[in-house]
Amino acid sequence: MSAPSKFKGPAGGWAALAASAKHLVASGNVLGGAKTLLDLNQPDAFDCPGCAWGDPKHTSSFEFCENGVKAVAWEATSKRCGPEVFARHSVTWLMAQDEYTLESFGRLTHPMVYNPATDHYEPITWDDAFKLIAAELNALSSPDEALFYTSGRTSNEAAFLWQLFVREFGTNNLPDCSNMCHEASGVALGESIGIGKGTVLLEDIKLADAIFIFGQNPGTNHPRMLGDLREAAERGAKIVTINPLKERGLERFAHPKSPKDMLIGGVAITHLYLQPQIGGDLALLKGMMKLIIEAGALDTDFIATHTHGFEALKADLAKESWDRITTQSGLTREEITHAAQIYMNAERVICTWAMGLTQHKSAVETIQQIINLLLLRGNIGRPGTGPCPVRGHSNVQGDRTMGITELPRPEFLDSLKRVFGFEPPRRPGVNTVEAIKAMHEGKAKVLLAMGGNFAAASPDSNLTWAALRALNLTVHVSTKLNRSHIVHGRKALILPALGRTEIDVQKTGRQAITVEDSMSMVHASQGMNIPASTELRSEPWIISGIAQATHPDSPIPWAAFRDDYRLIRDKIEAVFADFENFNDRIGRAGGFWLGNSAADRRWKTATGKANFIATPLPAETEREAAQKRTAARVFTLMTFRAHDQYNTTVYALNDRYRGIEGRRRVVFMHPDDMAALGFVENEPLDIATVHADNRVRVAPAFAVVPYDIPRGCIGAYFPETNVLVPLDSHGPRSGTPTNKSIPVTLRKSS
Ligand code: SF4
Repeated sequence: MSAPSKFKGPAGGWAALAASAKHLVASGNVLGGAKTLLDLNQPDAFDCPGCAWGDPKHTSSFEFCENGVKAVAWEATSKRCGPEVFARHSVTWLMAQDEYTLESFGRLTHPMVYNPATDHYEPITWDDAFKLIAAELNALSSPDEALFYTSGRTSNEAAFLWQLFVREFGTNNLPDCSNMCHEASGVALGESIGIGKGTVLLEDIKLADAIFIFGQNPGTNHPRMLGDLREAAERGAKIVTINPLKERGLERFAHPKSPKDMLIGGVAITHLYLQPQIGGDLALLKGMMKLIIEAGALDTDFIATHTHGFEALKADLAKESWDRITTQSGLTREEITHAAQIYMNAERVICTWAMGLTQHKSAVETIQQIINLLLLRGNIGRPGTGPCPVRGHSNVQGDRTMGITELPRPEFLDSLKRVFGFEPPRRPGVNTVEAIKAMHEGKAKVLLAMGGNFAAASPDSNLTWAALRALNLTVHVSTKLNRSHIVHGRKALILPALGRTEIDVQKTGRQAITVEDSMSMVHASQGMNIPASTELRSEPWIISGIAQATHPDSPIPWAAFRDDYRLIRDKIEAVFADFENFNDRIGRAGGFWLGNSAADRRWKTATGKANFIATPLPAETEREAAQKRTAARVFTLMTFRAHDQYNTTVYALNDRYRGIEGRRRVVFMHPDDMAALGFVENEPLDIATVHADNRVRVAPAFAVVPYDIPRGCIGAYFPETNVLVPLDSHGPRSGTPTNKSIPVTLRKSS
């Protein structure tokens, strides 16, 4: 007996309008916020600082979703977190506040420096801030003692300058938020099809006959995608959802722009909803492929012409037993057969996925099975087909394209040398998990972060926070106060940046930045609002200031780049051939497509073909292995966002679609598991990790609520549960922490 969510309405609909209005009112800037929304995702205006779902060619006046409203209202708030707030509240007091309270102070207004004598942040000038940073960086015995983190909101121009400064400084220590989200997608796709990006365009969604959605909750994380799925469902495309959790957005959606939907309560989205065990996708995919090959439903010409490794895959699948497939997937053979049938009956198939696939140990292998599935019937490189990893941050894909990576390609470094005349470092840098390890071991001494909330987003919070506090210096370029400013190094700076919605004027006039979405579309973004403070600076301005202070004799024209972003784009064009005529092309409405070799069936792989890559199912699951370490019943915990949340930013304490209001410390559990363990609804439970290092990791006092989730699986929100994710529990090939599969036990809170 499952427990459906208490929320009965469709996703979107009147509730989304009401929630949007509520967030606008809460921002204290209704008129300003509403005016800003009319510019959101418009060709000559600014790109939503939310997720990376694509923008349609022909935008309507209301080209945004409820979460776009929250992101804009949050940035356009009238609240200010100025020197007076820091004077009133010590860091120790701020540390006791939750994420929502910290960000609710509003927009940062001044550069601030931490004063250990008073335990308060105090104002500092920009020049003094840059001098302090330069002094600490230049005092290091090796450039590799410094870490330079990047969040996916950073624009292409800022990301390009950031990596340029870091490499001129002499290191590849460029951990970024992608390490914790879609890294596995990049690794898997790179090996399978020769490029670490999806091949799907928005237009393809309009042509697909079947769309398989793995480990993704678009209703909260990419809401405008629901509009495209609704259209597909309406025209008869079969949507298959694979997700342990019943997500309302994938069940029913009412498009606020459709009077019919608003009247009748929306349309059904998913045709077949499969709820596998957490991590059961690999077994499901192997079961589907086993059936498809047995049925002979293959594109043999495509396989013969474009692929490598088919026979090895066929042999591997033939060996796989149905018993293991159904046990590890948690699905019946009938359910798997139904999914395979839908796949075989479709002429054009798209597969999309997000963190529900990437934050697992076997993420790379699982994503490669999706590619195997698509290759079986040539569903890559023709209209209406292909792989589509949907990115959660508006420019996380662009940052990687700009060179934000700890493992740069030799040809990229050669281009950098050719264009800028210096020899960039060629030894690998560190990703996010390795960066935390380096801090923990005292090998790293300084952290500079371009946006984001490193302390809250990272795994193993207690270990990570201790490591951060041991650093000589932490510097965060941010728009709002967050945990990372409070969990700081011996010296600490907060540098307030312009937001995406704000006007950026430099010496040569108003500036535009660019971003790249999940569909490899690059377009311009220009803020429309008066900045929240005269002391705010743009990210390129800040990077240029840090670079000039650190390398006063640098031959790189940092000041010129600061004053005119077109010059940055000229250099991007010089380094990356795909950005030819960059400044011209971003002048077109909607920008341009960067192209994708796999979409053209040009396979830049080791074999020169698209690779079938076989992988056996594990002998035992993570949970089975963990169960051998304890007598207590082990569950698999998946962590996720609430509906009023964007990454670690908490807009409010509600999660409408899951029926949660005014709280966040809740754990979702199957009612039969609750009954079996004698738990009653809302009873507080402590969640404890079961891990080989036997370190104590406990998240206390989570109220248990019954939910439609498979037995043996439970769910809870991050960042509150990041304390449970062991630092060394990550994808061996991606380095991505396993936030979606943590073996844990539960006990009643004392
Ligand atoms: S779908 Fe994503 S990018 Fe689009 S408006 Fe919503 S949050 Fe912003």
